[in-house]
Amino acid sequence: MRVSKVLKAICGFTREVVILAVEVTGGPRWRLVVDVRPKRRRRGRCGRCGQPASWLDNGGGPRRWRHVDAGFATVELVAVARRVDCGGCGPTVAAVPWARHNSSFTRAFEDLVVHDAIVGNKQAAADRYGISWRAVNNACLRVAEEALGRVDLLEGLVAVAIDEVKYKKGHRYLTVVCDHMTGRVIWAAKGRSKDTVGEFFDALGERAADLQFVTADGATWITDVVAERAPEAIVCLDTFHVIGWATTALDEVRRVEWNRLRQAGRANAAKEFKGLRFLLRRNWENLTSAQRGVIRDLEGVNRRTFRAWQLKEELRDIFALPLPAARRALDDWLAYASRSKLAPFVKLARTIRRYRASIEATIEWRLTNESASHCASC
Ligand SMILES: [Zn+2]
Repeated sequence: MRVSKVLKAICGFTREVVILAVEVTGGPRWRLVVDVRPKRRRRGRCGRCGQPASWLDNGGGPRRWRHVDAGFATVELVAVARRVDCGGCGPTVAAVPWARHNSSFTRAFEDLVVHDAIVGNKQAAADRYGISWRAVNNACLRVAEEALGRVDLLEGLVAVAIDEVKYKKGHRYLTVVCDHMTGRVIWAAKGRSKDTVGEFFDALGERAADLQFVTADGATWITDVVAERAPEAIVCLDTFHVIGWATTALDEVRRVEWNRLRQAGRANAAKEFKGLRFLLRRNWENLTSAQRGVIRDLEGVNRRTFRAWQLKEELRDIFALPLPAARRALDDWLAYASRSKLAPFVKLARTIRRYRASIEATIEWRLTNESASHCASC
């Protein structure tokens, strides 16, 4: 039997790999250095995107890849890393059958390292193979990226949340889509416009017909596109955002009252009032008993602000009720808010009436973007 055939079996090479030479060096730990090349083709493939591309040059000459150990010997592959000129990516190292792009490990070795890192931990894997933690981490990233490319995240979607996320200190926006069933982010793109949402539906294609629920924050740049591209889907208005509107309304009432106190020359009372802002925004169950006392006292100190606070808290309670009870409670709430003589809440009642069908769908199906776990904007 020929040595190259034995070597091929030990190293697990496919027919794509041609062995040119082999050398054994060192000790006490032996190194098996195998010179290889990929099987010749008329055209190479881009290492980055995998598309066929024309040959460019021999790049930086020979490169080394650590391969799976053979018994007691460390195995290294050596090959000339030829370059191709890819139409999409420009000049780059050609794809080789034994390794992922930009790795100094072979694919088989990398898979082993990542497996050990996952069942154990990255440091243990690093120690086991005598490589750095960073090298293990990079291997994990490459394998994860490859796996993500294989898994179609848009497959089998039934309920999604569409939301915006601020970044760069709130000056830029991302549109983010989450799968309600898994809570995973499945799509994201820069911008927040009808076009951005349209791009998501472009990627989804015919599968948009399978969407049954879409939750959103009521922004027309989302709901208009959903109505057009997934007309069968029930649009749920995220109650989390509705509570956000109520909190904003409460804050407006508080500010008006604060200005009134200040203009009336009651500086001390106004100062105390300003400190209330964060207390009022908090949920009742998250307040300490001393903080609850402050809010109870508010009833005597400033009735208008207290009423506004009550309206916000009542709305939160309504969203936790079963649908028939929530419908009745919402009727009462709307009537009360409309007659409250608190302008921000009169306006909020109008908005809620407009979105009522979507709000009730949310209560019925219990889907909120909060349950999809992100919403960095709130
Ligand atoms: Zn390419």
